[in-house]
Amino acid sequence: MDRIVCSFEGGKGPLFVVSAAMHGNEQAGIAALREVCEILNKEKLSNPDFAFSGTFVGLVGNKQAVENNVRYMENDLNRMWESDFVYQVLKEDIFLQKNEVREMHEIILALREYVLTGKFRKLYLLDLHTTSSDGIFVICTEDEESSHLAGQLHAPLVRGLLKGISGTTLHYFNKNNLGIEATALAFEGGHHEDPLSVKRMVAAVFNCMASIGCINHIDTKNTNDSILMDYSADLPKSVEVIYKYHVQDKLSWEMMPGFTNFDPVKKGQYLARDITGPVYCPVDGLILMPLYQKKGRDGFFIVKPL
Ligand SMILES: [Zn+2]
Repeated sequence: MDRIVCSFEGGKGPLFVVSAAMHGNEQAGIAALREVCEILNKEKLSNPDFAFSGTFVGLVGNKQAVENNVRYMENDLNRMWESDFVYQVLKEDIFLQKNEVREMHEIILALREYVLTGKFRKLYLLDLHTTSSDGIFVICTEDEESSHLAGQLHAPLVRGLLKGISGTTLHYFNKNNLGIEATALAFEGGHHEDPLSVKRMVAAVFNCMASIGCINHIDTKNTNDSILMDYSADLPKSVEVIYKYHVQDKLSWEMMPGFTNFDPVKKGQYLARDITGPVYCPVDGLILMPLYQKKGRDGFFIVKPL
């Protein structure tokens, strides 16, 4: 598998990087990247008015984990993007590196090739994910443009998620680290195995492309946006994280069945089991990302509508 699964070059404009499968078991994103490129190529051939400003790059995050269909091999690739650590990784010999360290090194080298052309004044990153529970949402950074863009995606916007965790792509992709103005956001497209997750991600990518000025208009029936809008119709527009449960012991972890993103939960409600025993909900709110898999440390988040 190639690191860059597809790319599409247009005229002057931003570098728009969409990453998929930073977690290797989240492969719907790769299918979405391929579909996006197919639509762009079709549009180019069939629509004389179609113009693309900038360059679109579809990138696979954790290739080794994808090949093994696991979330990660040794370390969670989406918790390793801390500036000092990345700096060390880039100084070392890539051929001596293994697993996620090597994946991260390769991703940066692949992106540098684009950045160093000097063609782009701005980089946008949209990081695609799926979850072990149902539900869609967008995660933005503290950056104003990130939250503006996230608001255009037609999915609930989650604020404050990055405060409780560290080392995600969203923490890293900024001007200090990349040497180019950069804005990042992440999209959670639904359950890993749901075929509609692919469609929702395609829609999110096109919405983002339109918001950052890569495309003016495109035959909208291809972009699946109505799927996103229908799905989000009854969900809150914007929420803030008020609590995160950190899993004590992965093997003992067991989320009670039936929870979906944005389900209301009550203080004192029995939500999960950990090595220390039952885990009760600490506060009234809505549940986000209940963890129904053994890999990962974020058991669940509680959010409140804004
Ligand atoms: Zn993920």
